Amino acid sequence: MPKIAKIVTEVSLNQEFDYKIPQSMRNELKIGSQVSIPFNNRDIKGFVVGFSNFSKFENKLKSITDIVGDKPLIPHSVINLAYWMSDYYCSPIENAIKALLPSVIRKKSIQYKKQFSATLLADTKENITSLQRKIVNYLEKNGSTLIIDIQKKFNCSISPIKTLAKNEVISIEEVKIRRNPFYNTDLIPTQPFQLNNEQENALKKIKENLEKTPSSVTLLHGVTGSGKTEVYLQSIEQVIKKNQGAIMLVPEIALTPQTVNRFRARFGEIVSVLHSSLSEGERHDEWHRIFDGSAKIVVGARSALFSPIKNLGLIILDEEHEPTYKQEESPRYHARDVAVMRGKIDNCAVLLGSATPSLESIQNVNCGKYDIVKMNNRIDSKKMPLIRTIDMTREIEEIGHPSLFSRELINAIYDRLNKNEQVILFLNRRGFSSSVMCEKCGYVNECNSCSVTKHYHKTFNKFICHICGEEEEFPNKCPQCGDPAFKFSGSGTEKIEETLLKLCPNAKIERMDSDSMRKKDSYEKVFSKFKTGKIDILIGTQMIAKGLDFPNVTLVGVLNADLSLYFPDFRAGERTLQLLTQVSGRAGRGNILGEVLIQTYTPHHPAIEASRTLNLKGFISQDLKFREEMNYPPFSHIVLINISGPKEDIVVNCINSFYNELSKIIPKEVKILKPLPASILKIKGLFRYQILLSCKYTAKITKPVKYILKNAKFPKGIKIIIDVDALTLS
Ligand code: ADP
Ligand code: ZN
Repeated sequence: MPKIAKIVTEVSLNQEFDYKIPQSMRNELKIGSQVSIPFNNRDIKGFVVGFSNFSKFENKLKSITDIVGDKPLIPHSVINLAYWMSDYYCSPIENAIKALLPSVIRKKSIQYKKQFSATLLADTKENITSLQRKIVNYLEKNGSTLIIDIQKKFNCSISPIKTLAKNEVISIEEVKIRRNPFYNTDLIPTQPFQLNNEQENALKKIKENLEKTPSSVTLLHGVTGSGKTEVYLQSIEQVIKKNQGAIMLVPEIALTPQTVNRFRARFGEIVSVLHSSLSEGERHDEWHRIFDGSAKIVVGARSALFSPIKNLGLIILDEEHEPTYKQEESPRYHARDVAVMRGKIDNCAVLLGSATPSLESIQNVNCGKYDIVKMNNRIDSKKMPLIRTIDMTREIEEIGHPSLFSRELINAIYDRLNKNEQVILFLNRRGFSSSVMCEKCGYVNECNSCSVTKHYHKTFNKFICHICGEEEEFPNKCPQCGDPAFKFSGSGTEKIEETLLKLCPNAKIERMDSDSMRKKDSYEKVFSKFKTGKIDILIGTQMIAKGLDFPNVTLVGVLNADLSLYFPDFRAGERTLQLLTQVSGRAGRGNILGEVLIQTYTPHHPAIEASRTLNLKGFISQDLKFREEMNYPPFSHIVLINISGPKEDIVVNCINSFYNELSKIIPKEVKILKPLPASILKIKGLFRYQILLSCKYTAKITKPVKYILKNAKFPKGIKIIIDVDALTLS
């Protein structure tokens, strides 16, 4: 056994430290073990990442003080994954390791909740009080019971229980209590559906791929409502039968309680969840259920990808095209790419599912890296909804003034209200108005910290910056000239709600956006109200686009399809198509044919047309061609270098010198663009400039970039972000 351990700590600064392994620990210490070590006269924690017999600092080495826990907290393969992430995403190794564990596990800030429980040892013939007799009978019938529950049941003090224990009639022991994150605890168990032909075919392919070595990646391209989730469930069933475990990633778990419930209803207690809205205690307990093997399936957001599932057999990413899979802080990883890498390292199959796959995944299919299976029809031959676009330029010409609702949309809403059917209205902008201007002097309210104007939120009567969240009371008159008349433009969901309340005063209307959903259980509440028909019309941002499966929704209205189209981003068309397809998919999931009305000023834009015809092929091949010509992803990888700081001139100097140094050493194959101000120049008081690089091979960019980062000195207050495979260019 080697004498020296290589250790990464939270203060590592992208390096490993050597420590001596005391004789007594040599058998126990493993890669992935958490240890305590002396560091600058303090005691800190770190993770063992490797072993060695030699060290450059041999004579000066200190010894590990202690091993935390009796098993390594991180599997060896996941440590390897962290090294890959650190290298690929130019992220310090300590950040990559940190991403692997929830902080409550890393820091051990929480323990199990403990309680005392009573168990019957032997029935007794002795004279006991009638209350004691009742307790004994109860324990005989119900088995071990928590003492607080006994006390509640018999409305008694602790003393009769203590007496029983003293007389050795019962024993009392401390037990761990699980903090249960599930809101809904009484689910009706479900059986696997009899699959239709398309599902059967998909499952067959996945089963084949589960057996393959090296592991394989399958893209499941299935229209909304084609029964993808059922295929996931039955694929996982296969994995469980082989005594393996599975990871099921969903883009935003808080928005998809229905999905989690479907997994729990099928697999019960072996399902665990991990996501950001759990309490610390719940997260601790869920993680440990996975760690000790009692949970075999984890459903979670992107970080669940690192969970220590035993004997991992399958990783599934639902809605693989979702941008939320990219982490926007170091390590800036994309869960899809890391999943594929974990699949390779752990030799387990990966399944990516979507109704509108990312062009990255399509291209990986085209070049033979991924397998593909398609499901083109909805379950039970339910028809896809009828989708129509409404040209708002013409509408305004015809009615002679701007309007939020076209006549066609509002009539369709009246029609559904009459028939007692439900409506979903989608607008991807919260608040009341995105732009408020003084009619007289032209004053607009720019954020103090960001170079954008604040949005007006009527419910709070506030101006709010959508970039940094800065708020201020809405003034009743212009702060500049004192005129009381403001001009509001750029409507948001609040404005839609207000207008709709006037148009249909008797309808039950609810709004779902991050303003109205601030409480933890808000979603569940709205979902259950919607399900039981207590809401007629649900208005929302992209929050309502995902996963909802409500059969009585027969109309979906998109108020302004163009909002996401004119972002300065080569993915704008792809994003718009994905979003519209997802929203449309909420319509007509029951027995009545659904209808989708899309209001747009650009009905002939290829992305809008593809959303209408549901013919993705044309759009995909056209967009791929454009990307290939421009050498954009998926035909290259892009790296965005963003430098920011409080003084603009210093930032400009830094980015220019970064650019000059980089240009000297960057290989010819790399395309490098001159430094430019970011499209939002200032965020939270920091000025932002960036350099965009692209190349077929990421390492040709990142290697020289790392070299510069290591050797250059930057003034204080300057922040440098390296975003590999950046998803947003703003
Ligand atoms: P997707 O995930 O592709 O949007 P779902 O898996 O949610 O589709 O399926 C849509 C609906 O069809 C769900 O209500 C689901 O319970 C039901 N369903 C799925 N597969 C079957 C099947 N083979 N037979 C009957 N109903 C099914
Ligand atoms: Zn701001």
